[in-house]
Parts: sequence; structure tokens; C-alpha cells
Amino acid sequence: MSDYRLQALARLARLAPGLVLKTDPADLEHYGRDWTRRWTPAPLAVALPASVEDVQAVLRWACADGVAVVPSGGRTGLSGGAVAAKGELVLSLERMNRALDFDPVDRLLTVQAGMPLEAVQRTAADHGLLYPVDFAARGSCAIGGNIATNAGGIRVIRYGNTREWVAGLKVVTAQGEVLELNRGLVKNASGYDLRHLFIGSEGTLGVIVEATLRLTDPPPPSQVMLLAVPELDALMRVFGAFRSHLRLQAFEFLNDRGATHVVAHGAQPPFAEVSPYYVVTEFDAASDDDQNAALAVFEQCLEQGWVSDGVIAQSQAQAAALWRLREGITEALAPRKPYKNDISVRISAIPAFMHAMQDLFERDYPGFDVVWFGHIGDGNLHINVLAPDGMAQDAFIARCEQVTKALSEALVRVGGSISAEHGIGLVKKPYLSGTRSDAEIALMRAVRAALDPAGILNPGKLFD
Ligand SMILES: Cc1cc2nc3c(=O)[nH]c(=O)nc-3n(C[C@H](O)[C@H](O)[C@H](O)COP(=O)(O)OP(=O)(O)OC[C@H]3O[C@@H](n4cnc5c(N)ncnc54)[C@H](O)[C@@H]3O)c2cc1C
Repeated sequence: MSDYRLQALARLARLAPGLVLKTDPADLEHYGRDWTRRWTPAPLAVALPASVEDVQAVLRWACADGVAVVPSGGRTGLSGGAVAAKGELVLSLERMNRALDFDPVDRLLTVQAGMPLEAVQRTAADHGLLYPVDFAARGSCAIGGNIATNAGGIRVIRYGNTREWVAGLKVVTAQGEVLELNRGLVKNASGYDLRHLFIGSEGTLGVIVEATLRLTDPPPPSQVMLLAVPELDALMRVFGAFRSHLRLQAFEFLNDRGATHVVAHGAQPPFAEVSPYYVVTEFDAASDDDQNAALAVFEQCLEQGWVSDGVIAQSQAQAAALWRLREGITEALAPRKPYKNDISVRISAIPAFMHAMQDLFERDYPGFDVVWFGHIGDGNLHINVLAPDGMAQDAFIARCEQVTKALSEALVRVGGSISAEHGIGLVKKPYLSGTRSDAEIALMRAVRAALDPAGILNPGKLFD
């Protein structure tokens, strides 16, 4: 490290005595990457603030010294948003992980941004309420990261994305100003709602330090069902049938390749017979009527030939085992460094779009292992492609980028999005203009420049 950088870090340590600063190579590697594992971590240092004042001091110092800052949560991101590969300072919120306030009348929980999602869910449950955003990375992602990516997950079909649950935000701007946005108000017609600018901003507009979250009633008892679906076209028919007769809490799918990998990773095989597709669905089942309705809709799908088999969980352990088939996929594939797409189209466009994608993949990915899964009930598909044995990583990525270009063009035609919930980060930057118009991107640039004129916050992410 140059003398100048060393002196700058020493200055920072004096400005914020509460800050923990790490420069150990193992720490730089750990904090400098996310789940993409595509870039070699190379941060300048890692700063772990304990207070809002520490965060302010870091950002004022970064502005003065021209140091780029990467805000960092649990680094479970799948788009490279939290990667620090160019000498940036990683600003990890992990020490700011406490619940600060709960108001039972407002049903609002205020937490620090580094609190893991699972801890937020547990705290809500301790108050007899529910924080409903949920997905497999719950134990390691942080609420600040969830807000910065507007995370979705497996309950969007019932509860919406993270955005719906943010009633207030405390944000530190690039210049070190503290903004208190919306303060938990239900109604607030006093001009632009800047809170929503920071939701999904991927660490480019400010550092989220606290969030005030809406909580809701816990859902009624539910049941989990696994279905074997023989054809692509049947997936949305099954969805339509289940949605019109039951109150769904989740409706997820995976293809047989996905099931094969999760089973190899320790999940129970779904059925004796292999099926091209599977659905994991969860629905309210508070009464015998609900359970009878579920069986009736299953019978109807069976008669129509839309499903070929099904099982309903008889215990919590069985429900967890069925969920593992869907939720275990990202972890099961991670060691193979899959190339990921996370696209969305309108729910009504899913059947035609899936056919178009299937044709594209059969043509352009011959011999590749293509795993499809995701939140099909929200119009959100994840496509994970694995490199054929012996193919070098660079050649593999180059090939996948060509296919993504064609995929992005297909998305333009149907008005879809190249990123449903993972964010643009570094991974999807080349395709942003397929989802957002030039005018929109110009406005986004202007907003970024207004909030961060020195360009220190997560430069190179989302757009250059
Ligand atoms: C097994 C697995 C399953 C997943 N399933 C889903 C899923 O179903 N749905 C879904 O949406 N995502 C999913 N993800 C992706 C990921 O977990 C989410 O994007 C999550 O919201 C990221 O949170 P994080 O704390 O890990 O953020 P990080 O990866 O640390 O950061 C993500 C982005 O947010 C910014 N950021 C982080 N903290 C702050 C802050 N305090 N202030 C400002 N910016 C900040 C970072 O700079 C970066 O751009 C999954 C990931 C894994 C590994």
C-alpha cells in the first residue's frame, strides 16, 4: 500500500475512533467479494462503523480524499454490487446490527442496517408479528442490503417486495449529511418521497444506516405441496388453478436439472419418477375447507394432465424438506460458479416467453447444463447455466454474454426486465439499456450526480 494511502487510513482512524479498520489480506478477500465470485477482491481496507457518526466520518473522509466506498451488507448479492476489486474502502454495516425501537400501535420496528434478515424476522415474531420478506439467504444477508436491492424472495406473491415494508429510512449521503426519510408515516403528501429513491439504489446514492419496517399479522396455518409438472405449458395452468381456489403464500418452480443438483447436495428426491418440472407451493390451510379445496384443485390438475404426481407435507419437517428442493438450489450450484440470469416479464407473458427462451437455450446452449427455477408466480425466472467440463471460465462467460444479449433483446420485445430482484451491479450493466430508456438512464445519472457529486459511492456499479 502506498504511503499516501496509509496516511489517509491513519487520518480516518483519528477522525472516527470508534471505527474498526481491517487491512489483513484474509479480511480484504472476505469483505471484497459477494456470491458472484467472478472478480478478484482488492479493497484498500474494510471499515466497520459502530454508529451513524462513524459512517458520516467515513464518507466525509472519502469525499475529501477521493476514495471510492462500497457499502456492504451480508455480501450474498448475486450481481457484484458489493464487490470491491479496485482499491475501494468496504464500508461494512455488520457491527450496526441491533433493533432500536418497536411501537405496537404503529406496528413499526426500527433496526440498524446491518441486522440480518433472519434476526429481523425473529424480532418481529417476538412481538407476535411478521416481517414477511423471506428467502434462502435470510441467515446471512442484512436488511440494509435487502433494501438497497429491493429484495424479493419467495413470499412476493402474497406480500410484495421489500419496498412495501419500508416505512422510513435513515440514510447518510456521500457528503456525510443524515437524511431521515418519511419517519414511519402512513400518509405523507409533502413532495417527493426520497425514501423510494434509496430502495433498490445498490449503494450508489447513500448509505442506509437505519430502517423503520412495517410489520403485519402472522399468516394463518399453511400447507406445503410439491407437484410434478410434465410440461412447460402446464406450469401456468396449475398456477391459475391454485390461485383461483386457494390463498397462496408462495408458488415456486424448478426444472429437473435443478432438482438433480439439489438432490446431489443432500435434498430428498422428489418422486420415484423424474418429472421435467416441479412446483413448490404454500397456501393458507386454517380449516378443513381449505384442505379440501387444496385436494380438489390437485385432483382437477391431475385429471387435466397438468400434474402427474403430488405430495402434501404432513409435518413441519416434511414441509422444510419440500422447501429445501427449491431453496437449496443457489447453494447447491454455487461451487460450479453458474452464470446467472434473473429476468422478469408480466405474469401473463410467462408462457410465451418461456417457450421463446427454451428455443433460444436449445439453440445457443447445446450441451450446457441449464437450470431453471424461481418465482414463476411473480413473472420472475432464474436461469443458471453451468460450464461444460473443460471449458475455461473466460470462454464460458463470453459465450453466456452472447446468449444474454439475445435474451435481453427478447426482453425488450415484451417489455420485461434484465434484473427482477438481484440488481444490476457489475453483472448486468451491459444490458441496462434494454430495460431502461436513454431518457430514464440520463435522469438516473443526474440523480446520482446530485446526491454524490464526487462519485465516491460504489462507482462502476449499475452504470458508469
Ligand atoms: C442462497 C441465496 C438465495 C437468494 N435468494 C434471493 C431471493 O429469493 N430474492 C432476492 O431478491 N435475492 C436473493 N438473493 C440475493 C441476495 O441475498 C439479495 O440481493 C440480498 O438482498 C442482498 O443482501 P446483502 O446484505 O447480502 O447485500 P450485499 O450483497 O452486501 O449488497 C448488495 C448491494 O446493496 C448495497 N448495500 C448493502 N448494504 C447497504 C447499505 N447499508 N446501504 C446502501 N447500500 C447497501 C451494496 O453496495 C450492493 O450494491 C439470494 C442470494 C443467495 C446467496
